[in-house]
Amino acid sequence: MNCRDTKAQMSRYLDGETSVTERKRIEQHLDACVACRKSFERLQSISGRLAQLPAPPDVPQGFAERLPSLAARRLPVQPSIVSFRDLLTPPMRFAAAAVLMLGLGFGAALSLDLNRGSGTPESQTATDPVAVYGLDVLSDAPGGSLADAYLALASGSNGGGN
Ligand SMILES: [Zn+2]
Repeated sequence: MNCRDTKAQMSRYLDGETSVTERKRIEQHLDACVACRKSFERLQSISGRLAQLPAPPDVPQGFAERLPSLAARRLPVQPSIVSFRDLLTPPMRFAAAAVLMLGLGFGAALSLDLNRGSGTPESQTATDPVAVYGLDVLSDAPGGSLADAYLALASGSNGGGN
């Protein structure tokens, strides 16, 4: 038996899976060949260490089927970026916009009141909240709506006694 055949049969020989004839031929080669004997001794050492390792624990029944859901439960929750706008339903968006515009309107009205005594007609035109804030887009708002009320308030504060 040559070196290549001996190395190919070493594992089977070690596990006692070779025939008596094969066994004798391998042993004759290992007695005569130092390189193959060293290879056999390394294989024997590795095999002995593997045999000393504790057996892996038994996997519970159905573990493979449950594994994906177990993994999903352990994943950290991704912080989602949700804008304030996403939280608002369309009616709430309109209400929020109306509140914002009311705030702007009151600010503009307060500014007009402060300027009323000394303001010239040109400066009153320049501070007309409907023109300044482009509120004429609200002119199509249905009567009685918040937008309509806001537009009336903003226009009224500018017109004064009209
Ligand atoms: Zn050899």
